[in-house]
Amino acid sequence: MKDDSFRKYLFISLAGALGIILCIVFFFTLFRFQQVMDGIRTLENILMPFIYGAVGVHPQETENLREEDMQWLKEKAKQPKVVAIGEIGLDYYWPEPDKAIQKKWFIRQLSLATQTGLPVIIHSRDAAQDTLAILKDWQQDKTAGVIHCFSYTKEMAREYLAMDYYFGIGGVLTFKNGKKLVEAAEYIPMDRILLETDCPYLAPEPYRGKRNQSGYIDYVAQRLSEIKGITKEEVLAKAMQNAKDFYRIL
Ligand SMILES: [Zn+2]
Repeated sequence: MKDDSFRKYLFISLAGALGIILCIVFFFTLFRFQQVMDGIRTLENILMPFIYGAVGVHPQETENLREEDMQWLKEKAKQPKVVAIGEIGLDYYWPEPDKAIQKKWFIRQLSLATQTGLPVIIHSRDAAQDTLAILKDWQQDKTAGVIHCFSYTKEMAREYLAMDYYFGIGGVLTFKNGKKLVEAAEYIPMDRILLETDCPYLAPEPYRGKRNQSGYIDYVAQRLSEIKGITKEEVLAKAMQNAKDFYRIL
């Protein structure tokens, strides 16, 4: 195991230690897929039944995608323990890849979700209008979807709620400058919220700027419980049920 995959195993084992029973691992590139999937199966055979995978190519990695890769992804999506297509979407924070390329492969991978019937995990950064337009178009035959690391306004949340989407909420909720997300979280009903780490990024306060880990989800749950006026335990239980419903895990 090389450094980065080692860190993955570390956070996975930590989640187990803390009693977190659901963990979705995203694959950033095609290259890493088999390596991580093998790891999931090995761990599952030992003691980690709560780890599942999603397949998809992140918008930042779409530059050299080819049509053959879609067939490959479709095959992988049929494997046991693969519960979603993602992260797919648009990321305009960086100038590359070109917007047209990102859109093309976003739409193409949405059709993979249609074909496989799996829910989609959407990554959308600085691309609110284009993401919404594409997902509205796709709406007619969509499966379930989650906007992961939701970073847009309450108004944008209303658009996605109207299409019955879920919202991934993480460490930003605890940030002093996270007011926009707090407003959105006040507005989004509790049965549409999934808690997420976005590990290794976006560690919540008081660990902001440090390497994130699954155990810190507790701080996000605490903040959300204050916003919703319910207990942290209720937040955690509800978020777990939402995740099971969304990923169709019994
Ligand atoms: Zn993402």
